[in-house]
Amino acid sequence: MTERTSWAWTNWSGLETARPRRIVDPVDTTEVVAEVERARADGTTLKMVGTGHSFSAIAAPEHTMLRPVRRGIIEVDRAAMTVTAHAGTPLLELNAELERLGLSLHNMGDIDRQTLAGAVSTGTHGSGGHAAGLAAQLAGLELVTGTGEVLRASATHHPDVFDAARVGLGALGVLTTLTFRVEPLFVLEAHEEPMAWDTALGDFDRISAESHHVDMYWFPHTDRVLLKRNDRLDVDLDEAEPLPRWRATLDDDLLSNRFFGAVCVLGNAVPRAVPLINRVSSRALGARTYSDVPHRVFTTERRVVFREMEYAVPRAAGLSALREARAALEASGLRVGFPVEVRTAPADDIALSTASGRDSLYLAFHVHRDADHHAYFALMEQVMRAHDGRPHWGKVHTRTAADLAPAYPRFEEFLAVRDRLDPDRVFANPYLRRVLGD
Ligand SMILES: Cc1cc2nc3c(=O)[nH]c(=O)nc-3n(C[C@H](O)[C@H](O)[C@H](O)COP(=O)(O)OP(=O)(O)OC[C@H]3O[C@@H](n4cnc5c(N)ncnc54)[C@H](O)[C@@H]3O)c2cc1C
Repeated sequence: MTERTSWAWTNWSGLETARPRRIVDPVDTTEVVAEVERARADGTTLKMVGTGHSFSAIAAPEHTMLRPVRRGIIEVDRAAMTVTAHAGTPLLELNAELERLGLSLHNMGDIDRQTLAGAVSTGTHGSGGHAAGLAAQLAGLELVTGTGEVLRASATHHPDVFDAARVGLGALGVLTTLTFRVEPLFVLEAHEEPMAWDTALGDFDRISAESHHVDMYWFPHTDRVLLKRNDRLDVDLDEAEPLPRWRATLDDDLLSNRFFGAVCVLGNAVPRAVPLINRVSSRALGARTYSDVPHRVFTTERRVVFREMEYAVPRAAGLSALREARAALEASGLRVGFPVEVRTAPADDIALSTASGRDSLYLAFHVHRDADHHAYFALMEQVMRAHDGRPHWGKVHTRTAADLAPAYPRFEEFLAVRDRLDPDRVFANPYLRRVLGD
């Protein structure tokens, strides 16, 4: 175990900072247990952080900050098709290791820099499939509770803990290992095409039903949409047709990062030019089709730093919520350079998952890190609330325990598990006090 004092913690977007009193790098579960017992005895708090990719202050440590040290796969069970990994393993390392083993996760979000524990704890999700969220792909977990107990949970062993701790917000314990259901490695084909707003929204339900994963981006102040479809191909791995290196560099490095970064700076400096910039940007993107192993299709590199709020609304009301969001934005006079991202998720059975008990449509709103997000997010949050929206736990929002409880039928159930697992609130921080209560 190494220990330091006086070090500032900042999240990826730079929006949240904290100055924990102690920083500890525990090398095994015994050291995590010792830290929990110490915090409990001292009446202080403890927070295991991931890579700080949450936009909200969910990971902000108060007193002691634990950092993930152990990483990698611990066990592969090919009969059960499960893989157990250290909870602090970055997703990109798990993906690379799974690829070497000829295995893959079912689905994931659009980056791979997060830790597994951080990603599942906030309900990180992709789009479509039979499990959009990473937490819904879990078969088991191990955590150190607020009383220092080491608990293993699955659908058959402590199922109440399993239902709560898969999206546990870091409030129930320190996750030490996670067991994911995996699949034989497959080839995913990506097809991306620009479309008119009316066509894309008119066809969205049909396309979502026909394709395995659909991701849609609307460019504010325009009628243009980029629609991405990912479908499984029934071909061997060596038949995949990835983008040529020059095209991948041009699209992902130049257009998505460098050009987009420069465009954001221009839009920040001259907001009235944003509609024109968005029209040009949306037309600069051409159609493209390629195929590759899943993690290289699902994830991209994001080097333009931004701030994000994302809400899950009931699937059936989703496109109405999107249309209202557009109308509210256009009526507001605000200028927004970042596309609005639209994804779908099947219902899951996790107490505080944003898709808990209902099929969902996710609407994600972004601004460049140097732009002010307050007025835009407040306006969109109003529309999302009107549609019974649930905010992503790892993204910016202003909701509190009092108004989140009615949005989650299993909220009280989660709080009861919290009372049992962390009676002294060893894992509390200001964000958790706001969204869960004291
Ligand atoms: C560029 C970018 C793209 C993103 N794309 C997506 C996306 O496509 N889909 C999506 O849903 N989200 C997305 N996110 C959000 C991101 O996936 C989540 O915020 C995720 O939680 C970040 O993981 P992390 O390792 O950085 O965790 P952190 O932000 O460091 O921590 C998150 C929470 O996990 C807890 N935690 C961490 N480790 C442990 C542990 N071992 N035990 C218990 N609790 C723990 C922390 O205490 C905290 O409560 C994106 C974020 C960024 C910055």
